[in-house]
Amino acid sequence: MILALILSAIAMTLIIGVRYLIVSGAFAWATGRRHPGLYRGLDPQMKREIAWSLASAAIYGIPAGIVAWGWHNRGWTLLYDRVSDYPLWWLPVSVFLVLFAHDTWFYWTHRWMHRPKPFRMAHAVHHASKPPTAWAAMAFHPIEALSGAVVIPLLVFVIPLHTGALCFVLAVMTVMGVTNHMGWEVFPRFMWRGPLGNWLITASHHQRHHEQYGCNYGLYFRFWDRICGTDRGLGDFVRDHARAARRHGGAGDRSAVGPHRRDEPGAA
Ligand SMILES: [Zn+2]
Ligand SMILES: [Zn+2]
Repeated sequence: MILALILSAIAMTLIIGVRYLIVSGAFAWATGRRHPGLYRGLDPQMKREIAWSLASAAIYGIPAGIVAWGWHNRGWTLLYDRVSDYPLWWLPVSVFLVLFAHDTWFYWTHRWMHRPKPFRMAHAVHHASKPPTAWAAMAFHPIEALSGAVVIPLLVFVIPLHTGALCFVLAVMTVMGVTNHMGWEVFPRFMWRGPLGNWLITASHHQRHHEQYGCNYGLYFRFWDRICGTDRGLGDFVRDHARAARRHGGAGDRSAVGPHRRDEPGAA
């Protein structure tokens, strides 16, 4: 049994690690096509992002592997695979509930991690990316990775979820984690501007978090930021793109790089 558990955790780690390399790699490649030179000069940072992300894959893989083992062998979790087991309307509702619960957990733990001590101990790793790239999606200190790793494995015990819906949630999680750090907006304008953009988080929103720290803590939705007064609207990519253009031109004049970023965490 112990061996089966270990094998399940290793399998999950490999799946999560390979998924990360494929998705981040694809979006990094797309970035090179769409904004050539945007990541130029960031090679040492990207190496760090990849190393931290692969370490996170192992931390994500352990609880996921244990729960996957229990699901297969002990009937754990409320996962189901016959759509007819629950009413059809439950499919979208369950997806929304899982995303909202994940967002809620992320908002409050993330806000807590911006307090000085946990920031120095853990969250500084994620903010060491300036500006983050598509490889920063899972670049977290192990403490932060652990806080994220337990969410979905616990939620499948309390929210009945179709296995297809679970795959959809994991796909949303992966794509948003990568695209929010990519340095440009891949989604159509209506998704991040206008009524929908008032509630959904995409790269422009998370960009402002990486610029200003003490705001925009959410993951998928702006709900908690809005009701807690921590939403400072959308950022833009003008400064990062201008800096990349200067690197591209070989000017290399770092003193001319606009207002300096604040390195200290904002008060949460
Ligand atoms: Zn943060
Ligand atoms: Zn981030």
